[in-house]
Amino acid sequence: MRYNTIRKMDIADGPGIRVSVFLQGCDFHCKNCFNKETWSFDKGKEFTEDTINHIISLCDREQIKGLSILGGEPMHPKNIDGTISLAKKFKEKFPNKTIWIWTGYLYENIINKEILKYVDVIVDGQYNDDLHDFRLKWCGSSNQRVIDVKKTIKNNKICLYKD
Ligand code: SF4
Repeated sequence: MRYNTIRKMDIADGPGIRVSVFLQGCDFHCKNCFNKETWSFDKGKEFTEDTINHIISLCDREQIKGLSILGGEPMHPKNIDGTISLAKKFKEKFPNKTIWIWTGYLYENIINKEILKYVDVIVDGQYNDDLHDFRLKWCGSSNQRVIDVKKTIKNNKICLYKD
């Protein structure tokens, strides 16, 4: 897996001050994607064990409320194993901090369900430019859902995240 950017402090992608990781590689190619430079699977930097350790150390600060993983596409077959490794290590170290993941896949179509053990919120679905709504807090278009994963698993139906 490769990654594009790590933000040490991010207040735009999820609640509170967070560390954000933008992965590299996405096949969806949504019209007017906000992050086209992440489409190629070859660009960016190699995502290694050292990268994970660096991210974990950035998250090990009192003011950091959680980790946000964005794309590129974290759930793509080429990226999902790396996403799981990062999420697993993060949750082992910080069980009380949250993980938010943005994906173009629908929740129901996520290929490797192991990720659901570690993630708190999934913002799902491809960005649809025709449904763009600037009032949305955590996503770009109204087809996308901000899903509370723990509640969704417990109730066996999609439960949306509420602030
Ligand atoms: S899924 Fe996300 S990163 Fe991929 S093309 Fe759509 S908006 Fe861009």
